[in-house]
Amino acid sequence: MPVGTQGTVKAVPQDTLEALGAQIILGNTYHLYLRPGHEAIRRMGGLHKFISWPHALLTDSGGFQVFSLNELRKVSDDGVRFRSHLDGSSHSFTPEHSVEVQIALGADISMAFDECTEYPADRPRAEESLRLTMAWARRSLDYFRAHRHLVPWSDPKGCCMQCFGIVQGGMYTDLRRQCAERLVEMDFDGYAIGGLSVGEPRELTLDMIAETLPLLPKDKPRYVMGVGYPDEIEQYARMGVDMMDCVLPTRAARHGLLFTSEGRLNIKNKQYAEDQGPPDPLCDCPVCRRYSRAYLRHLMQAGEALSGTLNSIHNLAFYLGIMKRVRASLHETSHSATGN
Ligand SMILES: [Zn+2]
Repeated sequence: MPVGTQGTVKAVPQDTLEALGAQIILGNTYHLYLRPGHEAIRRMGGLHKFISWPHALLTDSGGFQVFSLNELRKVSDDGVRFRSHLDGSSHSFTPEHSVEVQIALGADISMAFDECTEYPADRPRAEESLRLTMAWARRSLDYFRAHRHLVPWSDPKGCCMQCFGIVQGGMYTDLRRQCAERLVEMDFDGYAIGGLSVGEPRELTLDMIAETLPLLPKDKPRYVMGVGYPDEIEQYARMGVDMMDCVLPTRAARHGLLFTSEGRLNIKNKQYAEDQGPPDPLCDCPVCRRYSRAYLRHLMQAGEALSGTLNSIHNLAFYLGIMKRVRASLHETSHSATGN
């Protein structure tokens, strides 16, 4: 899922996302709550309509951003008080309020409010953090079920809206297990594994996913949040992860880092100054079909706005291409397994 923090996948227009085959994008509750405001978006018919994206949307709970404010926040059992990074104004997110904002935005998938446990976290700290996450999961889901009909459009039952729970537990497999079991009892519409890709070594990320995934129902979406590099997303998808989101393809693109079939390519490098080949010879995205490495490097050097756009389009095409390939091969495997 490409990440559209402020209601835009940075530098990439919606029609291009459609052409690339993006089926769902992410919106960030924290940012949209502060600006333009969830009530304004509700009055304009919801986030889909506001940003002109008639496809699936997922919103995070705002928790991850709020917790990364460090100096500007205060956590209690009730929720988190924080100061806006924009103007220093004071706000609070409780599980109820986070879900209320997500319902006002009208996301197809809302996320339960959780605490993303930092890394490293010692055992008492991870346990305390998990206690909050599990209590907040219950409150998020209760509020969601009671209020999901209040979406910005007419939907008496709010039946198309889903709420996912988030498994935390730091890097402790027994805490992860405990959290997964409790969330499954609550019967969410889907399950996420959060608190990964927060600075831990990659083998640990893999361990946590491998330990947690089998505890989550196979017939519901399983989502690993905030990963990863191209080879990681392929590996996790083959393990049974259904959804992932990451700012990496677009953020790296704006810094001139392209992911290609030949590995990572830093387009700023002088060696590409007169390289007339496509960014990735095996990619058939609109950028690779039309432009040369030399031109992309020139745009970057000149600080042209088109640079971020073209680099992002290629990286998104590369990521979405990986998922397309994995889907096709899983499809084939399941067909040969059933003899079809
Ligand atoms: Zn390409």
